[in-house]
Amino acid sequence: MALQNSIRTFSIKGKITRNVFRSMTTAPRVCIIGSGPAGFYTAQYVLKHHKKAEVDIFEKLPVPFGLVRYGVAPDHPEVKNASSTFEEVAESRRCSFFGNVNVGHDIKANELRQFYDAVVFAYGADDDKRLNIPGEDANGVYAARSFVGWYNGLPAHADLAPNLNCETAVIIGQGNVALDVARLLLSPTSLLKHTDICSHALAKLETSRIKKVHIIGRRGPIEVSFTTKELREMIRLDGTKLIFHREDFVDVRPKVSELPRQRKRLIELMCKTALDPVTPNEEARRGECTREWELNFLRTPHEILTDDDNNVCGIRLEKNRLVKNKDGVYTPEGTGKCEEFSCGMVLRSVGYKSIKVEEGIPFDVRLGVIPNFDGRVVDAPNSKKILKGLYCSGWVKHGPVGVIVTTMNEAFATGQRIVTDLNEGVLGYSKEKMSAADMQALMSKRGINYVTFEDYQNIDNEEMLRGKENKKPREKITSFNEMLKIAFRDKKPS
Ligand SMILES: Cc1cc2nc3c(=O)[nH]c(=O)nc-3n(C[C@H](O)[C@H](O)[C@H](O)COP(=O)(O)OP(=O)(O)OC[C@H]3O[C@@H](n4cnc5c(N)ncnc54)[C@H](O)[C@@H]3O)c2cc1C
Repeated sequence: MALQNSIRTFSIKGKITRNVFRSMTTAPRVCIIGSGPAGFYTAQYVLKHHKKAEVDIFEKLPVPFGLVRYGVAPDHPEVKNASSTFEEVAESRRCSFFGNVNVGHDIKANELRQFYDAVVFAYGADDDKRLNIPGEDANGVYAARSFVGWYNGLPAHADLAPNLNCETAVIIGQGNVALDVARLLLSPTSLLKHTDICSHALAKLETSRIKKVHIIGRRGPIEVSFTTKELREMIRLDGTKLIFHREDFVDVRPKVSELPRQRKRLIELMCKTALDPVTPNEEARRGECTREWELNFLRTPHEILTDDDNNVCGIRLEKNRLVKNKDGVYTPEGTGKCEEFSCGMVLRSVGYKSIKVEEGIPFDVRLGVIPNFDGRVVDAPNSKKILKGLYCSGWVKHGPVGVIVTTMNEAFATGQRIVTDLNEGVLGYSKEKMSAADMQALMSKRGINYVTFEDYQNIDNEEMLRGKENKKPREKITSFNEMLKIAFRDKKPS
């Protein structure tokens, strides 16, 4: 806080020309809240398809790119390449980045509505779902999102220091995040050390005693929500063997041919791995493995078991069976029979959820999204009354599911609505709105030290420089204050 107060205003080198240009423009002004894939892909669409529109992106962290930076696993660098598209967008003359601005706190979304023709909510899903079972707050129970934030250097979770001084971890949930976390726990650290994993996490993983990971799901193999690529990586993971139970798959194989194409590929791979004879090479490989992972289906967590010091020592699960409901969908039903696994760590990976940004902005508490009609915000869930000038995009629009490509397609759809509304004069196109320079002045007046994209590039360069020493793409800076110090290092307090 001291730092934030001490660096309130600056003379900003290199921004003057653009701001003068901006303050005189009558071009349509679009404000996007959130700089993850949804925010950037929406911006990209609007800038490309409307030749005059200007876009300001507000981000609560000093750095952009949302889950591309803080979610995607360090050993998936090809996925992180999406950020080079986002960099091009941010460097457009008609785009401005305002990092370190928490909308709803530093400035209200309702206030931003007055200054822009369109306001787009693209702030993702910043909370996680809980299991709501006894023992959930014991030592050694972590949300997968905190664990992911820890190894990826998210300032809020960088100090998590998870206890890896145990042999067995249990992950609740069978989605891609669960597999990412399992892979990171079981990977030889030699495979991670040249990635952008934070060095504090790498050091801890180097001394980890974890040898076994259970991945638990309430439903059966056909209902898993991870994808083929992530499963394949786990099947081939160096030094690690898998345990699939034959009995889970014998009734599944005959159903594979009826499944949609993508799902068919995934379930076929699981059936093949579980049921087909193993090659001699694979047999030999498995014999040498020192670590293992196991898929456990049809299990609902009932209680996390603890010792006298409130440390996790096990988990009690109820066995389920699948029952077809009236819509023809199979849902899990408890059988009353329970089993227990010993473990020293439990990670819950049962989904993310969005939160309401502030009072007065519609929010569907049941679905955890902003109620919308094809990206246009409506005044209440199930209503068709569109609130002029308000849009949403990404996980806060359609819920926290899907990969970046899914988010991109949804974001382009929102972008298209905005461009259509601008072209059809539905929005206050010709009105003089607050310019970027006015916005900067307003923020300075309120003591908000916004980070421009040029400021962010100081952080980016510093991280890449620090990474070079250890042959890594970057060493992320995990302290908020240090990021700000580096971001503003070329600026003189005025
Ligand atoms: C752990 C994990 C791993 C993943 N790995 C992959 C993968 O390998 N491949 C793949 O294709 N997809 C992956 N995904 C999915 C992908 O990350 C999402 O589809 C995508 O990030 C959703 O984009 P978004 O912009 O809606 O949300 P986010 O990426 O979360 O972006 C939202 C942004 O809004 C900001 N924000 C929040 N509140 C405010 C506020 N009040 N004011 C200003 N800014 C705010 C946040 O800081 C964040 O930067 C992964 C997801 C997770 C959780």
